[in-house]
Amino acid sequence: MSQQPVHLSALDAYRFARESGSLAGCLELSDLPRLADVLASPAGNVSYQLSGYMGEREQARLRLRVTGTLQLLCQRCLGAVAESIAIDSRLELVPADSAPTQEELEDDSLDVLPVTGALDVLGLVEDEILLALPTVPRHVTCDLPVTDGADTLPHPFAALVALKRRE
Ligand SMILES: [Zn+2]
Repeated sequence: MSQQPVHLSALDAYRFARESGSLAGCLELSDLPRLADVLASPAGNVSYQLSGYMGEREQARLRLRVTGTLQLLCQRCLGAVAESIAIDSRLELVPADSAPTQEELEDDSLDVLPVTGALDVLGLVEDEILLALPTVPRHVTCDLPVTDGADTLPHPFAALVALKRRE
């Protein structure tokens, strides 16, 4: 696991937006631990670009773009299936304890990101990737794994029944 710069784990997001900050780089998939469950292989990386800007009424906002190709686990054959992602999210920063306004709820082009204190950029990239992935990844066409002999195995309870009979 590579050492990430400190600003990726603790970014002053409001200041970043005010100052029109921008960050870009490459993240190893192995540095995003919550993706491990859905990946067939932790090899590879994603590129991200984060920029800060202010809305029309001085709302602090972020734009996050993430691109890359992930090897997901096909839910049918359990082989690797390549999934390309191209995320482009706009997020409005709100204090973590405030309820979103009606306007924010109605604006589909914008997500609300509750932030109090420092923002974990790595965690945000991870969240956005998880949201963008298919819930049931699978090849367009593939065969089920070969289950030679599986059908002829005795039912797990059969052994129990046999034990009972012996009593
Ligand atoms: Zn498959």
